[in-house]
Amino acid sequence: AKRAGRGRYRFFEQGMDLQLHERRELEIDLRRALALKQFELAYQPFLDLSTDAVIGFEALLRWNHPVRGKVPPLSFISVAEENGLIVKIGEWVLMTACMAAASWPGDLIVAVNVSPLQFKADTLLTTVSTALERSGLAPERLELEITEGALLADTDNVLATLHSLRALGVKISMDDFGTGYSSLSYLQKFPFNKIKIDRSFVSGGGADSEAILRAVSGLGSNLGMAITAEGVETAEQLGRIREQSCTHVQGYLTGRPMAPDQVELFLQEQPIA
Ligand code: C2E
Ligand code: CA
Ligand code: CA
Ligand code: CA
Repeated sequence: AKRAGRGRYRFFEQGMDLQLHERRELEIDLRRALALKQFELAYQPFLDLSTDAVIGFEALLRWNHPVRGKVPPLSFISVAEENGLIVKIGEWVLMTACMAAASWPGDLIVAVNVSPLQFKADTLLTTVSTALERSGLAPERLELEITEGALLADTDNVLATLHSLRALGVKISMDDFGTGYSSLSYLQKFPFNKIKIDRSFVSGGGADSEAILRAVSGLGSNLGMAITAEGVETAEQLGRIREQSCTHVQGYLTGRPMAPDQVELFLQEQPIA
């Protein structure tokens, strides 16, 4: 019995080694990805619910690895956060997204996801100003999406950074609203322009998610914020959010994330604000 136990232990240990090894390989690949130009941004449109016009696009990070294929962001962003690479990647994302948006027609907005780690790095304000300057994009056309994770630690510093960003003219959205712990108190404390209600409350369909959707969109509109319903996939879901105080919609129904060169084509078939 002892032997079998030991054998199992060894086997388990080997399994761990393999995971560690794979992780290390992923890290090495990730370090090279920027230099090898393996990253790309996909752009997903969001629409104004009162006019159905396209207001802007959210930039979503894509990693095209020659062997791994298309690696989804959720499987490498946490690794990039743990080893700090997310700061460099985030700089690339901001610069690339601002450059792209500067070439779009009208006053279309680009929304960029910002990792909590980018706040910790203390360079966010400089990175944003540099991206705006080099691209020539008007600050009003840039929205930064942050999750509660960014707001948890070092509140004073984060608050100061958010106010400086607002002073630049940049807009701030609270992403994945409702999935964290203290969303409501954050709404009062931090200077948000927009709340993005998490897909789980939009697709839920049950009485609970309906009530949450109603409460949050009502609250947001009373606070003078824009409210985006995320992850709308069906006409029925769209119908339901139209009955709430949501102002914007984003989801597969109104447009999938698309390659940069598809944006122009998409806009030819859509009303623009
Ligand atoms: P997110 O910011 O909440 O982005 C929305 C995610 O939902 C995207 O997944 C998008 O493709 C997906 N989505 C949009 N509409 C629908 C829909 O109707 N149905 C369903 N099922 N999904 C929909 P994606 O692109 O895989 O990104 C996942 C997450 O990775 C993002 O969630 C965001 O947290 C993170 N991420 C993406 N790009 C960046 C980036 O440049 N920087 C950082 N720090 N995080 C990023
Ligand atoms: Ca987002
Ligand atoms: Ca989200
Ligand atoms: Ca999310």
